[in-house]
Amino acid sequence: MSTATLTIDLDALVANWRMLDAATPASTQTAAVVKADGYGLFADKVSKALAIGGARRFFVAAAEEGAMVRQTLGPGPEISVFSGHMDGDAALLRDHNLVPMLNSTEQLTRHIEALPGHPFGVQLDTGMNRLGMEHAEWAALRDLVIPLNPTLIMSHLACADDPGHPMNQAQLAEFHAMTDGLDIPRSLSATGGILLGPNYAFDLTRPGIGLYGGEPFVEARPVVTLDIPVIQCRDVAPGESVGYGNSWVADRPARIATIAAGYADGLIRAMSGKARLYSGIHSCPLVGRVSMDMLTVDVTHLPQDPDSLQLLGAMQTVDQVADAAGTIGYEILTSMAQRYRRIYTGIAA
Ligand SMILES: *Cc1c(COP(=O)(O)O)cnc(C)c1O
Repeated sequence: MSTATLTIDLDALVANWRMLDAATPASTQTAAVVKADGYGLFADKVSKALAIGGARRFFVAAAEEGAMVRQTLGPGPEISVFSGHMDGDAALLRDHNLVPMLNSTEQLTRHIEALPGHPFGVQLDTGMNRLGMEHAEWAALRDLVIPLNPTLIMSHLACADDPGHPMNQAQLAEFHAMTDGLDIPRSLSATGGILLGPNYAFDLTRPGIGLYGGEPFVEARPVVTLDIPVIQCRDVAPGESVGYGNSWVADRPARIATIAAGYADGLIRAMSGKARLYSGIHSCPLVGRVSMDMLTVDVTHLPQDPDSLQLLGAMQTVDQVADAAGTIGYEILTSMAQRYRRIYTGIAA
């Protein structure tokens, strides 16, 4: 077998959801964000486990994703769509009972015309300038929208992973200014916002990355383990090079393991010469460039040739790998290959 094995610990996933749930006041509900196919871990497995674990509300990016999650969860749990009501979404939203978070006057009009009486929420822009109605737009629409009983008013923080950033308080103040006095449930925080404290909790939180073991939830239990089989080991003499472009040259007799994953599996080239892999507790440097389907790793110091090396797991988090690659844990997770063999463990597996 020459594909890597990705092991997903569904008990750890549920434990992370419970910890984030416990981090906010009891009156605050905790949803689960399962967009991008459950941050690369497969939305069906992840949402089923979280539903068994207690989650009742789910968020996805697109209506198509929502339809898939609905198929997994059946009727009951509320599934909301961040991108709102796009042209062509009406049948999906209706047939799968999905709640669009309307982002603009245009989306509001489309929704009311296509699906009158169908539940919806409203997304407000409090400074991130990505999605949601702006202050003036909302001020003009509020009196028309409120009687239609939106299920939720939400916004999103731009800098919540940096607790000291002044943007957090600025967005909190703007969210209050736009929503205080309305008798509609409110949501501002994703993983980072939850960790900013109870002022940011409101009625509902929307954690994503923390569920999957990523920062800024540093207490998260690791959810993924990635073991990559060794295809071949060889001795390399001083002065010989390894891989494309001869970017690594041995300065001593070295033993090199070639392992079966590469940039086509989401292990981006930017981690060339920087990432580390593990054989048990022994750290082994990635040497040379990342190839499409292979990595070359210096295993000279190991007592014997390994059968496989571990990139993610107890010894190394997604964020440590992301640091080596100059990116963030979110990107490492969501880029993970479809071709990996996947093993789900835990009670919900
Ligand atoms: C992705 C996303 C989330 C979840 O964010 P995390 O940082 O992964 O917890 C919540 N809300 C919105 C609007 C998002 O786009």
